[in-house]
Amino acid sequence: MELTMDYNSRQILNLIREQEALSRVEISERLEIPQPTVTRITNKLMKSNLLKEGKQGISSGGRRPTKLEFNENCYYALGIELGRSAIKAALINLNGYLLSFRMKVTHGTESIDQVIEFVKEAVEEVMEESNIAKDRILGAGVGMPGPLNETVDHNVSPPNFYQEKSIPLKSLLEEAIQLPVTLDNDANAATLAEKWFGDGVGINNFSYVLADIGIGCGLMINDSLYRGLNGESGELGHMSINFPGELCHCGNYGCLETLSSLPAIEKNYKKMLNHKTGSSQSDQTITPFEDIIKEANDGSMIAQQVLDQATQYLGIAISNLINLFAPQKVIIGGEFRKVNTHAFDKIHSTIESRVMGKSGKGIPIVKSKIEEAVVLGAGALVINEKFSLSLNYRTRQT
Ligand SMILES: [Zn+2]
Repeated sequence: MELTMDYNSRQILNLIREQEALSRVEISERLEIPQPTVTRITNKLMKSNLLKEGKQGISSGGRRPTKLEFNENCYYALGIELGRSAIKAALINLNGYLLSFRMKVTHGTESIDQVIEFVKEAVEEVMEESNIAKDRILGAGVGMPGPLNETVDHNVSPPNFYQEKSIPLKSLLEEAIQLPVTLDNDANAATLAEKWFGDGVGINNFSYVLADIGIGCGLMINDSLYRGLNGESGELGHMSINFPGELCHCGNYGCLETLSSLPAIEKNYKKMLNHKTGSSQSDQTITPFEDIIKEANDGSMIAQQVLDQATQYLGIAISNLINLFAPQKVIIGGEFRKVNTHAFDKIHSTIESRVMGKSGKGIPIVKSKIEEAVVLGAGALVINEKFSLSLNYRTRQT
């Protein structure tokens, strides 16, 4: 589905989308675009079904103006999440409403051909369930663990990804599902989910922290997703927090991931429990992160201490982020956001004591309300490309 729009069309469309319904006069006033231009553009947008006529507004004398509404169901986007333990596909409308969803569990040992086959199956199933014609789907976005290490010929080499390196993933997927494909890392995809459908709506500068098995972050700067050279920005998990600390899988020592990732919390809990009971490390199985939260809620001092410590380290990393970028808001996503209030408050107190600027101390630090942020954000990659006001720069080394 080919859809190209100039800057004014995008501006009008986004304004109506955010405001729900506006008359042509109101659009002209708010965007300072002459009325004849607004009429010409809105007619064009109505012809392509992106806008529809809604209720009549209040008259200031004369005919009552007709309000224009965003037609969220005129096109759709496919979101695909390629995780290391699951492949997910979702069909969403232009406001992020999920029409259908599929998940295939994987083990990280599948061949890339099997992964593509899983995607193909999942996509066919969501299409069938939603009963949407293919020509109304703008494209497919893919969110996956980063950095993607994308080369000039579009081959990607994400770390620990189904034991494969240098995969022509975009062309393989386009061939399999017969739709244009856009790839990005999972944290960037989730950031766009917040920007279009979540706590980032209407906010020009915010940071999104995806804290889960790994820790990444997305940076929305002046309404644009900052990707950095070769898309390698946002590796918050490998920020050095305790440099003489533990060896990280990236080869460095004391990275945030060795302190606050889910596996780090589980490892730390086991270590502290063993220390208390005097048993050796090998005689106890790992307690999953969600059970550690339950135990903390049931009054386990050790569990609470482990969660508090992990949150404090995450708070230090977020303080560094605030000192660097001074965002208007920080959104925390991933499973980590499920820690209890006692632990979560450590982020606030850490920031309070470490952030330099006055405004940084009071900025909202919120837990993401989106359940499937990466797959939804993968769909938002498509929507962002078609409708965003910012130019989606991707910088590559030449
Ligand atoms: Zn690291």
